[in-house]
Amino acid sequence: MQDKESIWLRIVERIRTCDLCPLHKYRRNPVPGEGSLNAEILFLGEAPGRREDEMGRPFVGAAGQLLNKLLENINMKRAEVFITNVVKCRPPNNRDPKDEEIKACSIHTDSIISLVKPRVIVTLGNHAGKYIFESLGGKKWLGVSKVRGKVYEINLRLGFKVKVIPTYHPAAALYNPQLRETLENDFRLIVKALNEVRSESRRLTLLDFIKQ
Ligand code: URA
Repeated sequence: MQDKESIWLRIVERIRTCDLCPLHKYRRNPVPGEGSLNAEILFLGEAPGRREDEMGRPFVGAAGQLLNKLLENINMKRAEVFITNVVKCRPPNNRDPKDEEIKACSIHTDSIISLVKPRVIVTLGNHAGKYIFESLGGKKWLGVSKVRGKVYEINLRLGFKVKVIPTYHPAAALYNPQLRETLENDFRLIVKALNEVRSESRRLTLLDFIKQ
C-alpha cells in the first residue's frame, strides 16, 4: 500500500491539471488544501478567494485570519487539522460556486476526505454543509442557521462514520459581527466531539483487549 504522503502528492497533481469544470480557466493557482494528513478534524470551506488563489493555500485571507483565531480559542493549531474547500479553484469575482462545479470537484473532495479519514468534519457555510449532509450523508440539508449548534453522527457514502459540526462560514462573521460569538460557541463543540471520539476509541481498544 502507498503511504499517505505519496497518495496526497498524486491528488495534488490531479487537481493541478484538472479541467473538469470551467473554474480551471480562471485560476492562478489551484488550492487543494493543507494540514496534517492524519488530522482528526477536517474543515471544509467553500472556495478559494483572491489571496488563496495567489498563494495556492486555503484560508489565508481575512476569513482565514478569523479561522486562525477561532482555532486558537480552542487551543488548536492549523498544522494539526486539515483544511480544504468544496471547490479547489477560485470562482470569478468570488461568486458562489455552482452546484455543477461542486459536483465536478467532488472527485477531489472525496479523495481528500478518504485519505485523511477524519473523525470530525466541520463544515463552514451552506455549500460545505449541504455537500456533506446531502451528497455524502444522504441527509436533508435545511440551511446552516437551522442545523448549526449540534453535533451530527453521519455515515459517509465513503464507507466510514464521522461526527459533523455544521457552522457558519467565518466570512459571514466579518460582515455580521454578531455571528462571531455563535461561531466561537460552535467551535467549542469541536472539543466536545473530539473528546467523545477519543473516549469511544479507548473503549473499543479496551474491549478488543478483553476479547483476546
Ligand atoms: N473562504 C473559503 O471558503 N475558503 C478559503 O480557502 C478561503 C476563504
